[in-house]
Formats: sequence, structure tokens, C-alpha cells
Amino acid sequence: MLHCDPCHQKDVSGCYCGCAGLLKPLLNKIVVLDPGHGGIYPGTINYRIRETDINLAVALKLSKKLARFGATVIMTRTRDVNLAPADSTLDADLQARVDVAKNSGADIFVSLHSDSVPNINLVGPASYFPKDRSSDLACAIQTSLINEICTVDNGVSPADFYVLIHNDVPAALIEMGYLSNLEEALCLMDNAYQNLIADGILKGIISYFLCH
Ligand SMILES: [Zn+2]
Repeated sequence: MLHCDPCHQKDVSGCYCGCAGLLKPLLNKIVVLDPGHGGIYPGTINYRIRETDINLAVALKLSKKLARFGATVIMTRTRDVNLAPADSTLDADLQARVDVAKNSGADIFVSLHSDSVPNINLVGPASYFPKDRSSDLACAIQTSLINEICTVDNGVSPADFYVLIHNDVPAALIEMGYLSNLEEALCLMDNAYQNLIADGILKGIISYFLCH
């Protein structure tokens, strides 16, 4: 786990009404949102709750919020579909997500996931950045997300997930919580909780662009 840059520790919510220049702080920013999995790749399934559905539900909420602050949002998927043809490899599906960022002139790429582990007591979000590259985006999002949902902070770590290491633009992968914990899985299904997560990630993205 990393120590995050203090630049990202500040709560930017106070700026929304006070600073005219920040009313649309994401204007001209292109954000690619990647709801992980979909179609033939449902991700983890716990208590009959499918990761693909949680990831998409939060991404759709986050997309609207980002647009409200001026961002151009491009989603890798808006329905329960795989991106590459069903007879291709998983890597092809992941590359198709990276290609969306490549072909759209994205400023950042944010992939949303929900985790699962054998230890059913584990809860809380964790954020990942590409190994040997900047942690700034993941740090900004993780900090704001924890401030918003006030739960266990599993920190920010380097990782070699395909969509991180093959992306040319600043990228972060957010594990929003554990579907293997029944209580957190039910939270992740909840509309209000999904909105809180989306708010946290939104503030993190605004905070990131205030520093970059
Ligand atoms: Zn996942």
C-alpha cells in the first residue's frame, strides 16, 4: 500500500459553489469509464449477485455525474455485453477496452470492479495503478471514495492488470468492495450506496484534474 500525495487529500466539495472557474471542472476532459466484465464474462458471482451488474450500475450513475461537471464520458459498455467476439480470448476483450481509450483521445481510464476472496470478513474498496507508473489517479479516487463511504481503506497498490499496463493514458482500477462479504454485497446492490460510491469516485476524478 502506498502513501498518497497530500495534494489529493483535500476535500474538493467546498469548491463546487465557491469558485466560478470550477463549476465545470471537467470541461474538455475525456473520461473513459470501463464497467469491468459483461456478457460471457460475468466476473465474480456471490449470493447470486453478479459483479458485472454492480460494475455497470455504478458506472452508469458515475457517467451522469461526470457529465454534469463538464466531462465527456465514453463508456466501454452500457449493457451486459462482452466487447470482443465470444469466440476470441479474454485478452481480446480486455484489449478492446484499452482500444476505446486509445481511439478516443482519453485523458484518463477508470475501470470499475467488485472483488471476491475466500475470507468472507474482508470489506472495503482498494484502488490499483499500473506497476511502475504514477499512482496519482488511483490515490485521488481511493482517498475521495473512502471519505465518501467511510469504510475500511484497503489502500492503493501497483498491479499488472491487463487494462492498466496496456493503457497509454493514466489509468486506475477500482475494486469498490467485496461481494464475498454478504453485508457489503447487499450494500453494493443498494441504489443509495451505489450513488455514494459514484460521488466518491467523481470527487476523486475532479481532485485529480485540479492537480494535473
Ligand atoms: Zn472484476
